[in-house]
Amino acid sequence: MTDSLPGCSAALDKPAPKISFVSLGCPKALVDSERILARLRAEGYELAKSHAGADAVIVNTCGFLDSAKAESLAAIGAALEANGKVIVTGCMGAEEGAIRAAFPDVLSVTGPQAYESTLAAVHAAVAAPHDPFLDLLPPQGVKLTPRHYAYLKISEGCNNRCSFCIIPRLRGRLVSRPAGEVLREAEKLAAAGVKELLVISQDTGAYGLDLAYAQSSYAGRAVRAKFIDLMRELGSFGLWVRLHYVYPYPYVDEVLPLMAQGKILPYLDVPFQHASPGVLRAMRRPGDQEKTLERIKAWRRACPDITLRSTFIVGFPGETERDFEFLLEWLDEARIDRVGAFRYEPVAGAAANDLGLPPVPEEVRENRYRRLMQRQQAISARLLKNKIGRHIAAIVDRIERDRAEGRSQGDAPEIDGKVNITSRRPLRVGDIITVKVQRSNAYDLFATAA
Ligand code: SF4
Repeated sequence: MTDSLPGCSAALDKPAPKISFVSLGCPKALVDSERILARLRAEGYELAKSHAGADAVIVNTCGFLDSAKAESLAAIGAALEANGKVIVTGCMGAEEGAIRAAFPDVLSVTGPQAYESTLAAVHAAVAAPHDPFLDLLPPQGVKLTPRHYAYLKISEGCNNRCSFCIIPRLRGRLVSRPAGEVLREAEKLAAAGVKELLVISQDTGAYGLDLAYAQSSYAGRAVRAKFIDLMRELGSFGLWVRLHYVYPYPYVDEVLPLMAQGKILPYLDVPFQHASPGVLRAMRRPGDQEKTLERIKAWRRACPDITLRSTFIVGFPGETERDFEFLLEWLDEARIDRVGAFRYEPVAGAAANDLGLPPVPEEVRENRYRRLMQRQQAISARLLKNKIGRHIAAIVDRIERDRAEGRSQGDAPEIDGKVNITSRRPLRVGDIITVKVQRSNAYDLFATAA
């Protein structure tokens, strides 16, 4: 007597083919990885724990900076050595010649979002099980993030032409997902236990421009593919909704009331990259960046608790000491809560290489990077000190005996600070609790569960 399903015992006896997966790069690439894995799981493939035990390896590469390309090539080399059957996809896949020159034996090379070609390469390398009884895909797909938060990609590509960036060339022009499709994905994620949605794209505020704000159906009604309409809808799910990669366009101001009402997290990730007008012009940055200080002040008036996160590039070609000092003074005035800084690295194929601007020597770039991080550390420490004694909300990410590690509404996972929580009562990962802030350091808070 066997309790296998009639007609499928042979298929169940046969071990499912295993795929090992390496996901490199930004959250947008992570979402691509999740989509490929979701499809593979739906077809009956399993994820292998190591390259050696897999039937094939997929490497989802990053091609943004030369250092990321080097990391991608190293990952391909390691996969070839450990396994031999390697399928390459992702941003660096757009440079097939460079990959094949280094590793002629890779099975296939495709660019970003080439889901179908990647799957076809997997099918050619290891036949799909094709058994509906092995379709164990959870309705929310496969997530590479912990269960309680998830990235929600609302569009692909970018219509801007920042001179240091080759992403529009790699990923193409802006293509927004219909609002109904995004909302159905958010609904599935919420049903699967996700508490926090991290909204991502290359240019989040530009959502829907390519669709001329076309309506699509969600829950029996029409929803426009417009940034503010989508945010209103996402804000009604009762989840933490965090916005990444938003440029300071005037219509971003419309989302501030939703933040003040607690519908969307009071958090904006705005990659300013610089403040000096000359450098911004050379960078060809989108948004009306010269008026950003006024805009930031208006955002703080509309939502006093807002946390601003940004990234900056130091040592862009032609950046003078005066430009850099301007950036430091701007930081003092803007009081950006969370900052990531990069030393400029030329990217092959980027317009910045042909601007005819003098490169900034490496030691100057390094020096400016250190000065910027020191200045920011002091700003961050001051802002966090203001939170001592306050009761704030925190989401629990990890538990270790009587301590927990979490994040406040002002901290995105992986890139911002942490809240170290002591609690007398047991906590669970994904709980959203109230804590009292006891002390702070430059980047983190220390609090007790209230
Ligand atoms: S906004 Fe600029 S930096 Fe961002 S993806 Fe588009 S071109 Fe690149």
